[in-house]
Amino acid sequence: MGILESKVPKGPLADKWTQHKNEIDLVNPANKRNIDIIVVGTGLAGGSAAATLAELGYNVKTFCYQDSPRRAHSIAAQGGINASKNYQGDGDSDYRLFYDTIKGGDYRSREANVYRLAEVSGNIIDQCVAQGVPFAREYGGLLDNRSFGGVLVSRTFYAKGQTGQQLLLGAYSAMNRQIQRGKIKSYTRHEMLDLVKVDGKARGIIARNLVTGEIERHSAHAVVIASGGYGNLFFLSTYCMGANVMAAWRTHRRGAFFANPCFTQIHPTCIPVSGEHQSKLTLMSESLRNDGRIWVPKKLEDAKAIREGKLKPTELKEEDRDYYLERRYPAFGNLVPRDVASRAAKERCDAGYGVNKTGEAVYLDFAAAIKRYGTEKAYTSGIKDPDPDTVRQLGEEIIEAKYGNLFQMYEKIVDQNPYKTPMMIYPAVHYTMGGLWVDYNLQTTVPGCYSIGEANFSDHGANRLGASALMQGLADGYFVLPYTIGDYLSDDIRTGKIPTDSPEFDEAEKHVMDRINKLMSGKGLHSVDYYHKKLGKIMWDKCGMSRNEKDLKKAIKEIAELRKDFWENVKVTGEANSKNQELEKAGRVADFLEIGELFAKDALERNESCGGHFREEYQTPEGEALRDDENYKYVAAWEYKGEPKDAKLHKEDLAYEYIELKTRSYK
Ligand SMILES: Cc1cc2nc3c(=O)[nH]c(=O)nc-3n(C[C@H](O)[C@H](O)[C@H](O)COP(=O)(O)OP(=O)(O)OC[C@H]3O[C@@H](n4cnc5c(N)ncnc54)[C@H](O)[C@@H]3O)c2cc1C
Repeated sequence: MGILESKVPKGPLADKWTQHKNEIDLVNPANKRNIDIIVVGTGLAGGSAAATLAELGYNVKTFCYQDSPRRAHSIAAQGGINASKNYQGDGDSDYRLFYDTIKGGDYRSREANVYRLAEVSGNIIDQCVAQGVPFAREYGGLLDNRSFGGVLVSRTFYAKGQTGQQLLLGAYSAMNRQIQRGKIKSYTRHEMLDLVKVDGKARGIIARNLVTGEIERHSAHAVVIASGGYGNLFFLSTYCMGANVMAAWRTHRRGAFFANPCFTQIHPTCIPVSGEHQSKLTLMSESLRNDGRIWVPKKLEDAKAIREGKLKPTELKEEDRDYYLERRYPAFGNLVPRDVASRAAKERCDAGYGVNKTGEAVYLDFAAAIKRYGTEKAYTSGIKDPDPDTVRQLGEEIIEAKYGNLFQMYEKIVDQNPYKTPMMIYPAVHYTMGGLWVDYNLQTTVPGCYSIGEANFSDHGANRLGASALMQGLADGYFVLPYTIGDYLSDDIRTGKIPTDSPEFDEAEKHVMDRINKLMSGKGLHSVDYYHKKLGKIMWDKCGMSRNEKDLKKAIKEIAELRKDFWENVKVTGEANSKNQELEKAGRVADFLEIGELFAKDALERNESCGGHFREEYQTPEGEALRDDENYKYVAAWEYKGEPKDAKLHKEDLAYEYIELKTRSYK
């Protein structure tokens, strides 16, 4: 048995999961009461897992750094969640969702996991409806759907532009029921700083109480890492400010392999960067591409005039606009996958057609949709020959009902009314497909340590399709992990409580304390943010939307130097043993400075382009990503060996048995 045993069950694709559930070991209800599980992270993945595990009878401890599980980053999710219910009767099926996801990920994900994801997707919607999640409904009362990128059906369930918030309220209320029953002990404002292994198995964590500064030991029979993604290593991103890689990275340092670290998603529709002092970027949901049309001026002189404020976009004639996605990808149009749309925007802006002051923005225009909806509404309301103002007003009302909160958010940030003038958008870092390597059971390479949601690498290959992160997080938490973890825990029914006074806990706590003390004793030359911004710039310039060998080599060198400087000179104010947000940030940035280097090393090693990983040296004559299936059809799983430069690569071959590997085309 190799180290990277994916444990994909044998048998036909569509039977694998059912067969597996029938065959794996179970823990009986009485024994579950004797088993403790730690869940790090209470976003949609961790929250749903914790609630389900506790409902099954396990004793669960949850950890999050926010003051409530309800405030996890998942709350920000806007556009929706996919499921192959085929409510629209437009030809959807489990197979199609599976196929779209594999193709969307540019053939770099594991078939069996993705098929299972599609198979359980419908259950997620039923579960959430039962919890009272207020999904949007059609006039007749049935659940409504819309489309997201990279697909030709409407399978996305949504709750206005607040889908994540509503789903999280569902998961959180399920958690609360268990907290009230005493089956979940919820540790908020706690940060996991290390994983504790006993006899090679994950048996607990070291956490810091962020309010008191105290270091705590917590033991369990298994540990689940559900700590989200690491896109904040770019400094500017659409992530919440606190999102970090610490839990996953510290687990990696204890032996869990880290997979495909360079697979990052750069989302095409974000509010462009406005200046040096910004610390956060805002997403305009992909759902907007259902109705918004993306364009730039056809002529360079028009683009220049717009940038200089001499011409308004609304003044530009239809024939002078380049709807470049519709032109290049007629079949999918504005709903091509994110990696494709992002690169196309960058290409136009690099060629000089950008429309904001910095030249790094394209338009997302709702005028056509407003007219179309308004005309239809006037017709169905019996208004004969409506004047343009009436059509506009009726159309705007429909757009407001669909996307009102997103439009309001845009207006508040940009101070322009997107009902009257097109939005300006540009790509920004949004999601990390890479993460802890897990097998079919969602177990990492450390026995007893599992990883779910965005923290693992599992289902999205080199590019995640829109509305698939919520689906994966909730599939993992509600429907996969609660079964698979029992298979492992069935060996632990006689183990008894795991003591926290063992040498392993002593060692881990000492390790954590040493690291904190080292952070506190920097010479104090530069703030933590100074280093974070510098790292972000290296990442964006050299490891961002396009990469090449020369820049990646430079990035590796520069990050290693920056890390050295950080440990010598960082300034962390305050005390170690009390509330200290600078210390929290410093710990997170220290880890970003390590994963950043591994990220660049991974991107350098992968001599092909696939999905969001675009190596300039490997592209088609039309500028599309050029895969190399013969040499790179694998998951790159890195083993920690000290410095990132020494990390050892293991390869999991992605045997494609059910889907034919084709050149990915959205034309
Ligand atoms: C603006 C925005 C909009 C989005 N819209 C959509 C959408 O419409 N559809 C879709 O499918 N996806 C969307 N996504 C992506 C999706 O929201 C995320 O991928 C998903 O919610 C991640 O869920 P998670 O449970 O894995 O992690 P998170 O929600 O990030 O939760 C992480 C949890 O881990 C905890 N944690 C982290 N580190 C530690 C530590 N060291 N110790 C203790 N606790 C820790 C945090 O406190 C938190 O509870 C969107 C993302 C953004 C940014």
